[in-house]
Formats: sequence, structure tokens, C-alpha cells
Amino acid sequence: MDIVSVSFAAYLVAGLLFILALAGLSKHESARVGNMFGIAGMAIALLATIALAFDGDPSGLGIGLMIGAIVIGALIGLQRAKVVEMTGMPELIALLHSFVGAAAVLVGWNAYLHAEYKGDGSAQVQQLKALDMLGIHSAEVFIGVFVGAVTLTGSVVAYLKLSAKMKSAPLVLPGKNLINLGSLVLFVALTVWFVVDPQLWLIIVVTVLALALGWHLVASIGGGDMPVVVSMLNSYSGWAAAASGFLLGNNLLIITGALVGSSGAFLSYVMCKAMNRSFISVIAGGFGIEAGPAEDKDYGEHREVTADGVAEMLNGASSVIITPGYGMAVAQAQYGVAQLTSKLREKGVEVRFGIHPVAGRLPGHMNVLLAEAKVPYDVVLEMDEINEDFSDTDVVLVIGANDTVNPAASEDPTSPIAGMPVLTVWESKNVVVFKRSMASGYAGVQNPLFFRENSAMLFGDAKDRVEDILRAL
Ligand code: NDP
Repeated sequence: MDIVSVSFAAYLVAGLLFILALAGLSKHESARVGNMFGIAGMAIALLATIALAFDGDPSGLGIGLMIGAIVIGALIGLQRAKVVEMTGMPELIALLHSFVGAAAVLVGWNAYLHAEYKGDGSAQVQQLKALDMLGIHSAEVFIGVFVGAVTLTGSVVAYLKLSAKMKSAPLVLPGKNLINLGSLVLFVALTVWFVVDPQLWLIIVVTVLALALGWHLVASIGGGDMPVVVSMLNSYSGWAAAASGFLLGNNLLIITGALVGSSGAFLSYVMCKAMNRSFISVIAGGFGIEAGPAEDKDYGEHREVTADGVAEMLNGASSVIITPGYGMAVAQAQYGVAQLTSKLREKGVEVRFGIHPVAGRLPGHMNVLLAEAKVPYDVVLEMDEINEDFSDTDVVLVIGANDTVNPAASEDPTSPIAGMPVLTVWESKNVVVFKRSMASGYAGVQNPLFFRENSAMLFGDAKDRVEDILRAL
């Protein structure tokens, strides 16, 4: 049996399984099956790669190294996945993207050192020359190293910002747009030069240039745009993997890289719409993002309510909408919230959830938590599906959400989050806001919702307060 052909066929099957995985992951109901397709695809891909490595090096050294790497990687991965908090996922994802970037840089350098660097002394160069493909190989090396290095430092900065190890405010260097554009123009010029004359210093320069550009691109993006940055880096890491696929002649890496690259880009686009940011401005590293004026507005007094008071309100309600946010994740209040939902539904109250696309700290954050607590999928609605229903709702429970329910976004054109679509909770009869203090949310913007006449604050940890309400009910 020809191992190479079988492995290539297995790669195609794995590619199809990855496409099915993406399709499955697009809906709650099919997400589990989608994940299974992904796992099956990855298992097939690994087996085929091991078989190929064995075929190419029967001494077993290559395969031994590979299995060693897989075992070490799997152990570290399992350990990290076990201990990571849901709230720490974005930074972990950012860190993982940096590895993809680093791998692409190493693959590019390795390809260069094996071919162009050795010149005519390399059998690969002679082969490429005979096929008239040396220029294409050089372009692949150069582009792969560039995309990989941008992804590497960009992801490290995203990790540092998300884990609060670095300030989340945007870095504003004079002429920052010019720096980004200039770097891109320089990259194109260097690529042409490298294709014509692949010298070592050129690849050193492009590596340094791309590392600096990745750092600058992400450092100049502000905290509010971070979700888009994470999915954008996801996209970059896909393109970096695809570039490595071309260099290694690995079809599966090309397919997978393109899938990750394009789905990441599409997710970034969807999120930009959800946050009213322009895609180009985010990609270009915060083009045109202007901070709003410092706030010294007096919004008046807020009202407070007790858990008993909320229980009473809920007893008299016929329709309730819960809008969870980052605070529900911090408090791990989803289990209590699920219990509250079923208790109210048993009493005949209509309970639904309104999920903002960027609630929490990563896309789908709230959906994952609610699914974990076994809240039925059919009562969990997207912002666009529920926004018109708030005016017919008796009580809205805002559990640890802040920016995503801020009326300033739609009513105050001078607000830094002006234009961001938000859940219009204030249109309902009563709003209860669960949080620990009057502090602002992620975007650092005051929330006039807290001072509305139909709003009341329920202070304390969201989990404790939900349990108090359950007891009172
Ligand atoms: P916010 O981050 O705006 O606000 C969360 C609120 O939860 C805070 O005001 C905090 O108030 C409260 N809170 C924190 N801990 C607790 C607790 N234990 N119990 C009760 N309340 C608590 O949340 P949103 O989900 O509304 O908005 C998400 C924000 O994050 C948006 O600005 C979005 O752009 C940004 N973002 C989103 C990402 C995504 O992909 N979803 C990724 C990165 C950023 P207090 O301290 O007073 O308790």
C-alpha cells in the first residue's frame, strides 16, 4: 500500500470533517456534533502525519521526536484547559495564536535555510529552478515569515492587554497610520527584492519589521476593540498556517489555514458590526478611534432594591428577560440563574434571555455558560431577536452586564461607545441591575441606565444575590 497516497486521501477526509465541524458549530443544537467532527478530523490528520513521517524516515528518529512533541504538547494543553477560567479564555486563545505565528516563522526560516540560502548547492533549489518555481518558493517563504511574525507579536500584546499585564488604552504614536501603511509598502518592496535576489539580510529585515508591526498594530488598538482583535488574530494565525502549508506541501494545512483565516475574518466583521466599529479601522490598528470627552455629568440618584423586593417583583410579573454579562461569568452565577429560570417558568412566567454579541469577554461567552447550566436553547435569544420585545416586558434582570445595556450608546452621540448596538432594557417596565458597585464596565463609560426611574440596583455578588432571590421565592 502506498502510504503517501493513503495519507493524502486521509487529509482530504480530515479537511471535509473540519468543514462539517464549522457548520455544526454555527448552531447551539449541533455544536456538540460539530465538535466531534473536529476531533475526528484532527485524529485522522495526526495519524496520517505520523504515517507519512514514518514512511519518510524508517529509522524512527523523526517519528520519535514528533510523538514526543505531541505528548508534551498534549499534557501542557490538557493541564491549561483544566485550570483556565472561562473568563481567562480570550487571553489563552491569544497566547495560542502566538504559537501558530511562531511556528509559521520557524517553518519559513527552515524552508529558506534548506533552499535559497544554500543556492545551487541545494537539490531542492535545482528542482525548483527546473520547474521555474524558485521565485514562488521565495515569495511563500517571505510572506509566511511576515504573516507569522505579525501574528506572533500581535498575539503576545493581545495576551498582555487581556490579562491586564499591559495597559488596555491604545498606544498613540505620532503618525501611527503612516507607520502601519509604510511598513506594508516596505514589505511589498522587500518581497519583490527577495524574489529576485533571496539574500539572508532581507529575511532578517522582514522578520524584524513584521515583529515590530504586529506589536504596534495591536498596541494601538483600545480595550473596547479587543474582542475584534482576538478574532482578527485568529484569522491571521489561519493565514500563517496556510502559508506554512504551501511551504511544506501540506494540503490539509492549506485547507485548515484558509478555513480558520476566512472564518476569523468573517467573525471579526460580524463583531465590528455589533460594536459599531469599522472593520478597516480595527485592522489598520485603531484608525480614527477617538476617545470621548472626560465625563463629569451628574446623572442624579440611583435607587436600590433588596433580593426580597426583586422576588416580589418577579412574583407579580408575567414576562421576564434576563440579560447576562461579564459579571455573571465572574460570579459563576449561571447555575443559580438556570434554577431561577426553571422556578419562574414553573410558576407560568415567560422567561427569556437576551444575549448581546459581545457580552462577556469572548464571542459566545454567555451562550457557553448558559448551556453549561442547562438553560434550554429555545429561550436564549440574540440581541436582534429580542430587542423589540423589551417594551412588552415586566421585569428585566441585568445580571453583571454593563456596556451592553448602556443607553448612552444609542442616545448620546458624544459617548465613546456611541453607535454600538445595545440591548434596549430600559424600555421595559422594571429593570434590576445586579452588580457589586456603581463602577463602570469594560469600556470605562458611565451608565445612565442605573439612574433611570424604572431601574433599581441590587448590589452584591451576582451568585449570592440570585440565591437570595431563589430563597425568597
Ligand atoms: P461589562 O464588562 O461592561 O460589565 C460587567 C459588569 O459586571 C461590571 O460593571 C461589574 O460591576 C459587574 N460584575 C463584575 N463581577 C461581578 C460579580 N461577581 N457580581 C456581580 N456583578 C459583577 O460587561 P458586558 O458583558 O455588558 O460587556 C462586555 C464588554 O466587554 C464590552 O465593552 C465588550 O466590548 C467588551 N469585550 C467583549 C469581548 C467579547 O468578545 N465578548 C472581549 C473583550 C472585551 P461591579 O464591578 O460594580 O460589580
